[in-house]
Amino acid sequence: MWHGKHMIIHTLLGLVWAWFLREWFGQFNFIWVTTAVVGSVIPDIDHFIYFLTYGKHDSYTRMIWRFIKTHQWRVLVKYIESGHKYNTNLSFHNYYTVAGLVILEGLSFIYSWQIGVTLFGAMITHYLYDIAEDFVVLGYINSNWCRWGRDKGSR
Ligand SMILES: [Zn+2]
Repeated sequence: MWHGKHMIIHTLLGLVWAWFLREWFGQFNFIWVTTAVVGSVIPDIDHFIYFLTYGKHDSYTRMIWRFIKTHQWRVLVKYIESGHKYNTNLSFHNYYTVAGLVILEGLSFIYSWQIGVTLFGAMITHYLYDIAEDFVVLGYINSNWCRWGRDKGSR
């Protein structure tokens, strides 16, 4: 995918979450494991939506297209690997989304809707990891987290 190691860590976190739920629910269910893995990677659909719709005209996207058109695959991979952390224009990678998920998680928990608990919890691990990774890799938290929607000012 976009960034191999990053996606593997997200998947592992999903599995840890599934294992935790297995202990908690006291039952193993393959559907929950699958849901946890899907939930832990699905928020990165944001990158594709960005690339194909609202971020189509950003310089980040234009550079990617240029590498694709000139077949510079190695350069492309390197560019995405380092560049995706600096792409601060993602619409749904923010605290509001996380807060919404926490509410959904709480509701699922109250109504003992286990598939919801599994899914929303896994999605929350994704965002928490992304935030932690910002901090470790960049030394600060990207501006997209504090903002709803994309950054209209920068280009
Ligand atoms: Zn992400």
